[in-house]
Amino acid sequence: MPSGMIGLEGTFQGGKYVLPSLPYASDALEPFYDKRTVELHHGKHHAAYVAGLNKTLDQLDAARKAGDYASIRALSRNLAFNASGHILHSIFWRSMKPGGVAVMPDGLAMAMRESFGSVEAAKAQFAAAAKDVEASGWGLLAHEPAADRLVILQVERHEDLTIWGVTPLLACDVWEHAYYLKYANNRSEWVDNFLKIADWEFAAERLQAACR
Ligand code: MN
Repeated sequence: MPSGMIGLEGTFQGGKYVLPSLPYASDALEPFYDKRTVELHHGKHHAAYVAGLNKTLDQLDAARKAGDYASIRALSRNLAFNASGHILHSIFWRSMKPGGVAVMPDGLAMAMRESFGSVEAAKAQFAAAAKDVEASGWGLLAHEPAADRLVILQVERHEDLTIWGVTPLLACDVWEHAYYLKYANNRSEWVDNFLKIADWEFAAERLQAACR
């Protein structure tokens, strides 16, 4: 399995992108993440990115066959938007674990100390970044391969403000659809609660694969 694939199992099958199953019951993240939001977020919002991605690929296929690239700018944008949305949501579902993870794996903790000074500083920067994303986007912990270090990104929409080549390790969705039903405009409380159920074991597994 290619190193970036951990957590992306079941996201592409039979020549099409597909909605991966949730790795837990839809009410398993209560009380931090409510059942109704999880169901809508997964079954409607994430599903829409999958559908949009497959549709865009069909349209690109048709454009190549017709030799008609009049819509290439819109199609290229839709490709980046929907594919990034699909990948980040797939990582997002795996970024949370019912009950959370009490002890962060050593490898991840060590990488955090090297990159940010301490685990607490890494968590504080992650929370601050996620809470302060302008409009819709993500707080993202990622591995940057050139320096072999961790970075924290504020992703706008799904595809803006990335560093090429990074491997996302832990993703916190801060689009309003991710939290508004339960938290209304209190994004800050959502981010704090996300960190209580963050799956640091999953992030550590992704990091280990990225460094292989
Ligand atoms: Mn979302």
